[in-house]
Amino acid sequence: MKKLIFTFIASLLFLGHATAQENRLFPTQPNTSEIYHNLEKLGFLGTALYIAAHPDDENTRLISWLSNDKMARTGYLSLTRGDGGQNLIGPELREQLGMIRTQELLEARHRDGGEQFFTRANDFGYSKHPDETLEIWNQQEVLEDMVQIIRTFKPDVIINRFNHRTPGTTHGHHTTSAMLSMTAYKSAALKTAYASQLSRLDTWQPQRIFFNTSWWFYGSQEAFEKADKTNLLEIDAGTYYPWNGLSNSEIAALSRSEHKSQGFGSSGSRGSQTEYLEYLEGSFPTDKSDLFSGINTTWTRVSGGSKIQTQLNKILSSYDFKNPEASLPALAELHQAISRLKDEHWKAIKLRELEDIILQITGVYLEASSNQQYITDGATTPINIEVTNRSNDEINISLTANNMIALDQSQINTTSNSSTIVKGTLTIPQYFQPTSPYYLNEPASLGMYTVKAMNERGLPELESPFAVKAVVTIQNIKIYRDLKIQFKSTDPVRGEIHEPLNVVPAVSVSVQNPVYIFNEESKIIQVSMTANTDLKAGTIELCAPNDWMIKPSKIEFDAMTSGTVRTYNFNIVPPKRASRGVVSGLVKIGDQSFSKEVISIDYNHIPDQQLVRNNEAQVVKPNLKNRATTVAYINGAGDDVATAIEAIGSKVFRFEPSEVPSDLSKYDAVVVGIRAFNVAPTEMAALQERIDTYVKNGGTLMMQYNTSRRINPDALGPLSITLSRKRVTDENAAVTLLEPNHAILNKPNKITSVDFENWVQERGLYFPEKWDPAFTPILGMNDNGEEMTNGSLIVARYGNGHIIYTGLSLFRELPAGVSGAYKLLANMVSIGVDDQPVKKNSDEKF
Ligand SMILES: [Zn+2]
Repeated sequence: MKKLIFTFIASLLFLGHATAQENRLFPTQPNTSEIYHNLEKLGFLGTALYIAAHPDDENTRLISWLSNDKMARTGYLSLTRGDGGQNLIGPELREQLGMIRTQELLEARHRDGGEQFFTRANDFGYSKHPDETLEIWNQQEVLEDMVQIIRTFKPDVIINRFNHRTPGTTHGHHTTSAMLSMTAYKSAALKTAYASQLSRLDTWQPQRIFFNTSWWFYGSQEAFEKADKTNLLEIDAGTYYPWNGLSNSEIAALSRSEHKSQGFGSSGSRGSQTEYLEYLEGSFPTDKSDLFSGINTTWTRVSGGSKIQTQLNKILSSYDFKNPEASLPALAELHQAISRLKDEHWKAIKLRELEDIILQITGVYLEASSNQQYITDGATTPINIEVTNRSNDEINISLTANNMIALDQSQINTTSNSSTIVKGTLTIPQYFQPTSPYYLNEPASLGMYTVKAMNERGLPELESPFAVKAVVTIQNIKIYRDLKIQFKSTDPVRGEIHEPLNVVPAVSVSVQNPVYIFNEESKIIQVSMTANTDLKAGTIELCAPNDWMIKPSKIEFDAMTSGTVRTYNFNIVPPKRASRGVVSGLVKIGDQSFSKEVISIDYNHIPDQQLVRNNEAQVVKPNLKNRATTVAYINGAGDDVATAIEAIGSKVFRFEPSEVPSDLSKYDAVVVGIRAFNVAPTEMAALQERIDTYVKNGGTLMMQYNTSRRINPDALGPLSITLSRKRVTDENAAVTLLEPNHAILNKPNKITSVDFENWVQERGLYFPEKWDPAFTPILGMNDNGEEMTNGSLIVARYGNGHIIYTGLSLFRELPAGVSGAYKLLANMVSIGVDDQPVKKNSDEKF
């Protein structure tokens, strides 16, 4: 049990407390008033856990208030890492976005003073109802993680961000987080629940649980004012903290602004700010302005602890802001007194806090650094350990070598403001696994990550395996610290930077594109390799399924120096029949093989991240025919569908809605990108007449999904279409061909049920529910237990042309290499061309 607690709090080592301009890339040292604040915090023995679904769901104002005003241990449990969101700062999506958002949460907690937890749940994307969420998440596993975190962190109060009683009113993940929280709140106390945890952990019953409500959840300010507030706690969270010169809401804004990938930069505010907590279960607070009231949060909650507060009070009253070091002898006595307590939970937490304070007071600076950011297994790099004592006290530091770390010196006796650099080396053992997020090492399902080690579950990240163990002796108190070896550099613009030290494979291999779509012809696939160390000569090849022909079968390369990047071309010929497979680059040097790809994610606001995975790309030969020579693509909210249309052989002209040419007649089809009518309503309205003429004269208008919000039925092209919120989230949901003889399912490609296999994430969203009678619904589908929808694909003749509207998730399926989606796409853009008797040049190609 102790081990787990230490893992959770170790991430706060040497981080000090949040002030205005700091992030974790620079070591921080609290000033004398911040140290005093930390001393005050020693006297509060209470814990709060805030629970929601995603990074950025959390109310940083309340978390900061709990941590800095109440001085409670405060945690945020985000069930997911936010992989399903958007990225406003770069191209990373899915698990790479989850990596960024994990680090953004750690930065946010560094600002507001909270701790961060996760479950294994994967943010798989939008779901409209908790029932759908729980069909994809493994409820038992998510609860198991939540219960483990509660039993470890031992919160007195739990606060839900979302309302557990209103399923269907917000993202299914949100409501689910609150519903599961209500269950975990009870289960954590039961000996029968998740009993396998009880060999390491005790059961734990939090005292009460709240819902962090606001007027927004009531629909309007007026409705909120009229509501019964018997069970509502009002908290003024606008505190000003003289010890760091910030208002609580200013800290909250700094914390919120760390969610940069979500564009959540936020301005601070000052003055009184009310937070509302609706009491849900447990003991009712004795004072409605204090969520902890009635819970003992003083040292008297610990057996033998009453003397501790008396000692602490003396230290606080005699604290000398000009000479905090004067408190050292009294702090050493306090350390001895706490060490004698029997309560292992609070003893471990408070000793850790106290030892941090002792180090802060002496200005002791301990740092282990390397001048290399990347290192391969088997390699050795020099390291420096800086030991600086900025106090007048004599401090003894001993450093411990191990099988990876050798040191020139292990005992350092320091005196006033003396600094010592101990030289050493770090040797990475042969076959040491490259650095990559621990929760991505095992294959994941759509809804859950796989983490086998129970004590790793819940953690944002694992501690670095490269650390020098140090024992600091001050006033006969021994303080044990792990000095994580970090890459240290001086950036000409940013100044001093500390980044993680990453193990990389000797060679990194990658295939240029994630998906290749084939017609009859062959293609060149580029494979590149990066030498992460000096390499001997070897060979590189492209591995493919048997019936895909690769030339040459392998290419020899000469020795290359570290840092060299080389790119090789392989010609690949698809089989005659439709086929789909995976190709990957393989490098052989001597008897060693390399096929891992290294992805670096570097942003200034978070530590550099590294993902190491198998290199691979999809090769797909749908055996399709496409009759559209030229296609105009009107950009919407952002998708890769235009690239997919190019991949099947059409020439695509991309236009912003405001730049669409006045004459569209030369295009076989005009395709409208996702949510174009949502993001550019005025520009799209201005195109109505032009599109009307184009379609009447024989053109094809193909529109992809828009959300139903504020979309009027006449906005979507020449014919009326009423959107709904209907969606089918099960990507394997059965599809009924309502009009099997319709051209869209037959020309030029025959569409059958096979074409709806291997879809990813979902079938589609925001399906139309009413339409002009000219439209024919083509497909029927539904999620389990729901009525069949028939609006996922509707097609109409209009004048001499065609209008197609589809909520099918082509924007997801096409980049994932789904054959059937390509065939449907080809039929959509070809529908008008097929009607014409004259054969086009493009026919020759297929
Ligand atoms: Zn959310």
